[in-house]
Amino acid sequence: MTNRTKSTKALGTIALVAAALSAAAGAQQRPAAPTAPAASEEESIRPAPNRRSDEGKGPFKTLVIRGAMLIDGTGAPPRGPVDIVVEGNRIAAVRSAGTPGLPLRPNRGPQAADHEVDATGMYVLPGFVDLHVHAGGAPKNADAEYAYKLWLAHGVTTVRGVPVAGNAFTVSEKARSAKNEIVAPRIFNYQRPGAGWDRGAVDTPEKGAEWVRWAKDNGIDGLKLGAYPPEIMAVLLREAKQANLGSTAHLDQGGVAQMNAIMAARIGLGTVTHFYGHFESLLKDYVVQPYPAGQNSSDEYMRFGQVARLWDKIHEPGGPEWKAYLQEHLKLGTTFDPTLTIYSAGRDVMRFRAAEWHDKYTLPSLMDFYAPSRSSHGAYWFDWTTEDEVAWRNFYQVWFRLMNDYKKMGGRVATGSDSGFIYQTYGFGYVNELEMLQEAGFHPLEVVQSATRNGALTLFEPQHKPIEFGVVRAGLLADLVIVDQNPLQNFKVLYGTGAVRLNDKTGKVEHVGGVKYTIKDGIVYDAKQLLAEVATMVEKQKKERAGKSTSTAASREAR
Ligand SMILES: [Zn+2]
Repeated sequence: MTNRTKSTKALGTIALVAAALSAAAGAQQRPAAPTAPAASEEESIRPAPNRRSDEGKGPFKTLVIRGAMLIDGTGAPPRGPVDIVVEGNRIAAVRSAGTPGLPLRPNRGPQAADHEVDATGMYVLPGFVDLHVHAGGAPKNADAEYAYKLWLAHGVTTVRGVPVAGNAFTVSEKARSAKNEIVAPRIFNYQRPGAGWDRGAVDTPEKGAEWVRWAKDNGIDGLKLGAYPPEIMAVLLREAKQANLGSTAHLDQGGVAQMNAIMAARIGLGTVTHFYGHFESLLKDYVVQPYPAGQNSSDEYMRFGQVARLWDKIHEPGGPEWKAYLQEHLKLGTTFDPTLTIYSAGRDVMRFRAAEWHDKYTLPSLMDFYAPSRSSHGAYWFDWTTEDEVAWRNFYQVWFRLMNDYKKMGGRVATGSDSGFIYQTYGFGYVNELEMLQEAGFHPLEVVQSATRNGALTLFEPQHKPIEFGVVRAGLLADLVIVDQNPLQNFKVLYGTGAVRLNDKTGKVEHVGGVKYTIKDGIVYDAKQLLAEVATMVEKQKKERAGKSTSTAASREAR
């Protein structure tokens, strides 16, 4: 998905699709689009306010999380009870706090901690990594704070913006987050070629090389690519590798016929995001997708509807071509970041349109953006049919298998959400991604590994550095999630709205869970407080809208 909501609104479908195609200039069949973001885009999103003194506690000289069950992110089974000692923003030690079934061992050090969290009976995990985010902006959510707080409230302590927003904005927010001046996850800044500079579109290999060098000097951590023409793609990826920049590509339908996922991986692509490019690499009877004659990919209903029709146009799942495809990716070291969640409304649009979190936590302006519309990106429910949903359900089965088979042979699958589109609200959409990986066949411990360690590896690998977070172990940064339920038993307990459970003692239905604390960089955030602030933002906008409609009614009355 693209965050170019403003230009989208102004210019309609043409700009929309152009933006979605990552503005790969030079491809003449595509609508012309500015590659560098317009100034107005940067203004369509407001930076987060400074962190107030009552927001988050710490970092502390010594913080101890006591008596917890630990899921460390490596794939190891849970163990506990443990004490996790944090000094400043780093994990100093993970120590046994006793024996299961017996009272916690008394007089455990360190005795004079500045702050303690009693996590008896609770679960601690590494902070989650969302490898595919955008922070929104008007008209969806004018404030980046809204997305940041929803991410943190759902345990997301690191995001890879693809992009978060324009380059100048993101560089600034990344620095403020690194200094904890704002309440936000850590930010990795990936940008589209041509973003940020004033030298125009990247439409030649020379321009591509020039922009990557510019990017390296201007706070960019990696490239968000589309399916560029091969000669430009090759230069972008070569230069990125030399500059230790990462890369992730949405291999859009406009360019995928000449740059599918295996072609891109062969010339150095790091991450394939979404499904684009996989199915096109596996087509059985064609070299391009056999579209109906009436196809117009600028029409989002056709664009997204036809994606699902690929499910039975490919080589047999599990067959020799399928295996060879995955094995080559494995050899090349490609990461898959499927963002299963963002298209999931296609299987059952009513479920996500009516999701229980919308009322309290989705801004009315964001809800408006999700509603069927020819001008909002991802609002393609013009006339969504049973047949469309059946096709998407079939598509998901094949896509799930592809991801799970890659995992089974040792390939890296990581988590990303792309929230802020298609009825997936920030944070909630991320937890849905965890649920969907489990549906794809991942064991819950494998899901956690994808969400933590695998995300971290994907971010640090291009920099040739060991991971700094993503696993709970001494020496790494103190990015942690604490929840008073067992997420391996049910990932739904991570939703801000919790999981529904019948209490057999009282006979009452309860909402249990929701992340309790999110610790980022040694700072302890009360996740429920973050959610309450988001609820206040939503409430405020509802009141403003009600006020507006009342005053309009009043003025009509006066006339
Ligand atoms: Zn996106």
